[in-house]
Amino acid sequence: MVEVLDSYLQDAWQSADGPGDVLRDASTGEAVAALGSGGFDLAAAHAHARTVGRRNLQRLTFQQRGALLKELALALKPHVDELHELSYATGTTKRDAMIDVDGGVATLFSYSGTGRRELPSSNVVADGPLQPLSRDGSFVAQHVLTPLQGVAVHVNAYNFPVWGLLEKFAPAFVAGMPVISKPAPQTAFVAELLVRRIAESGVLPPGALQVLLAPPADLLDHITEQDVVSVTGSAATARLLRTHPAIVDHATRFVAEADSLNAAVLGPDATPDTREFELLVREVTRELAAKAGQKCTAIRRVVVPTELLGEVADAIGAKLRALPVGNPRSDDVRVGALVDRRQRDTVLERIGVLAAAGELVTDPGTPDLVDADADVGAFVGPTLVRVDDADAEAPHEVEAFGPVATLLGYGDLDDAVAKVARGRGSLVTTVATHDIDVARDLVRGIAAYHGRVHLLDRTTAKSSTGHGSPLPNLTHGGPGRAGGGEELGGVRGVHHHLQRTAVQGSPDLVAAVTGTYVAGASRREGTHPFRMQFEDVAVGDSVVAGPRTISQEDVDAFAALTGDTFYAHTNPAAAAANPFFDGLVAHGYLVLSAAAGLFVDPDPGPVLANYGLERLRFLTPTYPGDEITVTLTCEEKVDRVGRDHGEVRWDAVVVNQDDEQLATYQVLTLVEKRDKVEEA
Ligand code: NAP
Repeated sequence: MVEVLDSYLQDAWQSADGPGDVLRDASTGEAVAALGSGGFDLAAAHAHARTVGRRNLQRLTFQQRGALLKELALALKPHVDELHELSYATGTTKRDAMIDVDGGVATLFSYSGTGRRELPSSNVVADGPLQPLSRDGSFVAQHVLTPLQGVAVHVNAYNFPVWGLLEKFAPAFVAGMPVISKPAPQTAFVAELLVRRIAESGVLPPGALQVLLAPPADLLDHITEQDVVSVTGSAATARLLRTHPAIVDHATRFVAEADSLNAAVLGPDATPDTREFELLVREVTRELAAKAGQKCTAIRRVVVPTELLGEVADAIGAKLRALPVGNPRSDDVRVGALVDRRQRDTVLERIGVLAAAGELVTDPGTPDLVDADADVGAFVGPTLVRVDDADAEAPHEVEAFGPVATLLGYGDLDDAVAKVARGRGSLVTTVATHDIDVARDLVRGIAAYHGRVHLLDRTTAKSSTGHGSPLPNLTHGGPGRAGGGEELGGVRGVHHHLQRTAVQGSPDLVAAVTGTYVAGASRREGTHPFRMQFEDVAVGDSVVAGPRTISQEDVDAFAALTGDTFYAHTNPAAAAANPFFDGLVAHGYLVLSAAAGLFVDPDPGPVLANYGLERLRFLTPTYPGDEITVTLTCEEKVDRVGRDHGEVRWDAVVVNQDDEQLATYQVLTLVEKRDKVEEA
């Protein structure tokens, strides 16, 4: 008897009614575990997420959740090896498992950074600048983003049981949405080990994550309008779930990452004697070897100048034949097993369809398996199918989710674009070229069909992260057949879980909603805000400093000191001829420097450093003789969890004697906290 996988629901491991499908080692055929048959109260799981999970998550801020994600990543790091070890049973090599396991943990670290660097210490994001709606500034609008109040339901494909779960979980968690995840059955035992380690870490608040390791049953029947459903799988599954009655009825936010006939295009400049030719061959080989081609981003169509079909076929064919296939536990193996025998049969059947349109350059048969038996394992040899009729339907329609690609020819660049577009929307295409005109024309032609385009040439040969790697800070997804979804992309991935709302009202009321100072809201003057520690300074605290006259001597001295002798500051006739100036003007940087000289409080104090300016605009020229006054107001505070300082953003406005705005900008400072972090 093998272990029946439990599901982690309502913060406890729950047993299924009985055993479901037996899950077998992809190479040896030995039973590893059985899926639970089901019988769970999924309505209760939804209710738990919506009450306990949501409350616990939204009691924290974006910053705090970002910090927890780092704790979780650190807690998982010691378990990477045991996850690698178990992953062998899914057919993956050590190298493949690193994409999944290490890549998953890296995604947690990345989203922790996103939460802490780019989001506020609250649950409200001010999205874009304030919009004045009345002439006198008394009526304004601000777009805000706030967490949806439902649950994020994640349905995953089998190929990345760790990364797939974590890459969807991380942005939802930072956003403040509880997650119910349903990993795919074939590799559910790896997902189970991951979730056991997550639960044991005790890092996540109750209700933040529930995981169903059983058939989906009524999982989607309980969906509401405040939820997000995110599905990774085949185009057929995505189509089925997109039209689920609960999702249609509630107009629920739906994200699909489906299959995709990604391409690699060889530029016409990349003849066989070039580095780009060699790089394309290497990239295609690598993509078919990794995860035995079971990657949504894998190269499925290699599109090359028609006259080079033979040479490309020879070069890729030779590389593919040299790849050792077999038991992924062997260090020599580059291509492991497919996830199970059923997947192998499906892939072989689809190779048959592709081969009917062309000819096999390399064969899916695997006579020399390393340490494995073809009769029990799910092995398919890396296969290249040359299709001389590049307009044939099969290569542009049939996804063989294994180590399989087709080789197609194109005439001119327009034809190359047309061939790539036949995929009807893909996750990624690589363009191998060192010619700037080719790069520009091809990418502009195909970009609308892609979520990502990877330019490969000799200058990035070493530094490129590769065709097939979705990166946490770059959008992952693609239009059309690829599902029309977008995941990751740094803070964009968090935004998928937030609602955008335009809030209209007076500056004071809008400022109260966002928790940040907005132009026209009330300010308070009293103790100089640079004398207050982080906890004590409040949004709206302000200092007005000046006036100070900017003299001609100041301008001359500044020019001499900095070497900035631009004619507008030094040559009266040339300055007067400039359409924007009436004569000599002061340097903008002199105005900023003089403003800083007015508002700083010189003695040592809680303000530790100025780390930059943002949104600087010089609005009106400053002429020698003008009097400048600066108003500095605390606009936003970001409490960096676990640090002895916080970040304070100040709104700065410099005006002249006629109250005309000379410069507006934001000053970024680090301010010491009163309560220091305890040493562990
Ligand atoms: P799949 O057969 O489509 O299954 C994907 C997931 O959907 C599984 O967890 C499956 O669970 C679930 N599912 C199917 N019917 C469901 C229903 N009625 N209600 C709720 N859940 C349902 O895909 P796969 O074989 O695991 O993965 C391979 C495919 O995924 C390939 O086509 C590949 O291109 C695509 N893929 C895309 C991406 C991407 O990011 N774009 C990434 C990886 C894979 P059950 O089997 O338990 O129903």
